[in-house]
Amino acid sequence: MENNQTEVKPKSRKELIIERFLSQLSDQYNKNFYWRSGQEKLYLLKFAHIPEKFLQESFKNYLIEKLGKDLPTIPQVYSFIKAQRGFEKHWEYFYRGAEFCVHCRSDKDGHTGGYRNIFIWGYKEDRLASKMHLAKCNCDAGLKMSGPCYTDLVDDMALKHPEAQITVSYFDGTRIVDSQSQSNFVWEERVIRGTVSRGENGYIINWEHPVWKSSVGIRILECNNIEVPAHFRKELADKQQEREAQSRMKFKRKNTRSIANDGYRGSMPSSIQNWL
Ligand SMILES: [Zn+2]
Repeated sequence: MENNQTEVKPKSRKELIIERFLSQLSDQYNKNFYWRSGQEKLYLLKFAHIPEKFLQESFKNYLIEKLGKDLPTIPQVYSFIKAQRGFEKHWEYFYRGAEFCVHCRSDKDGHTGGYRNIFIWGYKEDRLASKMHLAKCNCDAGLKMSGPCYTDLVDDMALKHPEAQITVSYFDGTRIVDSQSQSNFVWEERVIRGTVSRGENGYIINWEHPVWKSSVGIRILECNNIEVPAHFRKELADKQQEREAQSRMKFKRKNTRSIANDGYRGSMPSSIQNWL
């Protein structure tokens, strides 16, 4: 049997919240069903990015605090809601009708985002100079954001500073790779500090520099998949052990003193005895 009935989609929670608010308004200002259903769609668009709970609270506050003799317009209601405590700025940037692409989204569903970060560095009169920029993405949703598109910015920079290295953030399948981490800038800073030097095919670690024996140095090597000499780890572990022993000594001295000074002459609890 053919089903000629129009399918009635159950209303979402947000639709119900908006419907209730609008029916309060239509009661107050004598508006009919058609006005209400027309407004409902506009409200849904306008408040699509605002969480339901926040919207419900704000509507309630509006009815209590704001209802006057004139029917409010959507922009008036919106600006009231925007001024409510807890309103988050990024809700305004939600782009309706499309998602931000994987390279520029700042949440997992692509409801927020739109910008890529761009890192440029180079030598300016022998001085290392760098700058981080933000520019809108070239995906459909990103192009709706304000300011120049990152591709134009990169072209512009490359023209002005042909020697500079320019990198742009992107999604590598697992995470967003920040533009600065892709650049050689940090390595060039290390050249200046003397912890590495420039070689034929890349940077060479200056192993005699003490930084590589520190925990920070070892971490840098590990992060760059450079093998850490075994004796570096051992020296670091020995040093740490020594430091721990020293701080235990200090703790012991301090506590012996404070116990001696408090006038207590009785027996000592065994837990403290163990420390001394
Ligand atoms: Zn994008």
